[in-house]
Amino acid sequence: MDERRQRFDVVVVGGGAAGVAAAVGAAQVGCRTLLVDENPYFGGAATHRSVLTFCGFFAQQDPILQVVGGVGAKVLEELDRLGVYFGPVRNPGTGNVIIPLDPEATKYALDRVVLQGGVSPRLHCKVIDAFVENGEVEAIECVDHHGRIVIEAEAFVDTSGEADLTTLAGGRVRFGDGEGNVQAGTMVMRIGGVPKDVELNRAVFTEAIFEAKQQGSSSLTKEKGILLRLPISGDILAMFADEPLNGLDSVSLTQAEITARHQAWSYLDVFRRRIPGFENAFLVQTGPSIGVRETRHVVGQHTLSGEDVINGVRHQDAVARGGWPAEFHKAGKPAEYYHIKDLSFYDIPLRTLSVLGFQNLWCAGRIISCDPIAFASARVMGTAFATGHAAGVAAAHYALMKTVKLEYVRKELQRQGALV
Ligand SMILES: Cc1cc2nc3c(=O)[nH]c(=O)nc-3n(C[C@H](O)[C@H](O)[C@H](O)COP(=O)(O)OP(=O)(O)OC[C@H]3O[C@@H](n4cnc5c(N)ncnc54)[C@H](O)[C@@H]3O)c2cc1C
Repeated sequence: MDERRQRFDVVVVGGGAAGVAAAVGAAQVGCRTLLVDENPYFGGAATHRSVLTFCGFFAQQDPILQVVGGVGAKVLEELDRLGVYFGPVRNPGTGNVIIPLDPEATKYALDRVVLQGGVSPRLHCKVIDAFVENGEVEAIECVDHHGRIVIEAEAFVDTSGEADLTTLAGGRVRFGDGEGNVQAGTMVMRIGGVPKDVELNRAVFTEAIFEAKQQGSSSLTKEKGILLRLPISGDILAMFADEPLNGLDSVSLTQAEITARHQAWSYLDVFRRRIPGFENAFLVQTGPSIGVRETRHVVGQHTLSGEDVINGVRHQDAVARGGWPAEFHKAGKPAEYYHIKDLSFYDIPLRTLSVLGFQNLWCAGRIISCDPIAFASARVMGTAFATGHAAGVAAAHYALMKTVKLEYVRKELQRQGALV
């Protein structure tokens, strides 16, 4: 086969939580499936932005209710097989239920799930163009250090996090809330050198940062951030260094990366000087990339609304479940949560994953068609696995049958262990 011109049944663009699930879901239907990512590993924000907690696998209710199965659950099983599954953990403060992750184990588990799922992986490969005819994406153009590669397929899934494929194909997208506002970006810090018996008392951190600011530390932003002890390494994950940024724009990203790294060193300095137990703390890692929460949203056949989310609305054409509260981040401010009715879950209809104006293009993950409140919930990785899985199965069905029957998609998702 010409390595620079290839053909698949389904091509998935972006190998984060949504893309991994989409690709494995499509391959399990029996489609020849390619998963493309520009990074050197899968996992998207989990591995490339050190977002080392899976949220959204469980609703907040008591007893804990799992709302995401399927390919997402396979990833958890793989982590368990490697001896590195440490969930679910309930945060007594917020009531949220999370799964803390080890960074290297997460990369490795995702490699294994992708390969065992029968997917063809292509890392270090950036999608830069799309060719469209009669409402169908015919092919994409990618680039690596050799040059350009054209990949044709019967169906495509956009899981790029920034809706790159949909935009390149000429599909309708909305930036942020439609008025230029997006959730804040945050540079995640991983801190080592803190003995394992040191407790993370948030109030102590808030006070220390507040005092440092009063005394003239001007480069700090958030006083109330997220703090978590990671499994295995015992490193501290700290999310404080906020940046208002445009995650599509290299000028804005460059500035944000540099000032956020400066913030990270300033926070480290405050922690070392003011938090008992942090005297010998050091930065294990920032990023690698600054965390971008929000850029573009696809305009789909249906837009999931905040009311649907908050009221835990169920839909006839449900293909995924969301169980995470709506979580908002404004630069420098503490996170705000809006809970789902009865601390339960809401349904995500297939229509929100179907890109308006295209027959063979689906979207999943943080770019699904939703309003700002629905986005604040559906963006998390557990939910991204669920929407990705559904989009991959729908794309596979289209690739094989040239039509998509809802009942088939739901039955196939159930056959693959999804919770719908
Ligand atoms: C600071 C921060 C903290 C967060 N905290 C949490 C948390 O604790 N728990 C949680 O579950 N969620 C959290 N989130 C949200 C969550 O990380 C994302 O919403 C989620 O990762 C979305 O998954 P995704 O698969 O849609 O996209 P992503 O994880 O962004 O993956 C998209 C992938 O597409 C690839 N890609 C993009 N464009 C191209 C292209 N043109 N060609 C090839 N590849 C491309 C990227 O390299 C990337 O790997 C947080 C986000 C941030 C930024």
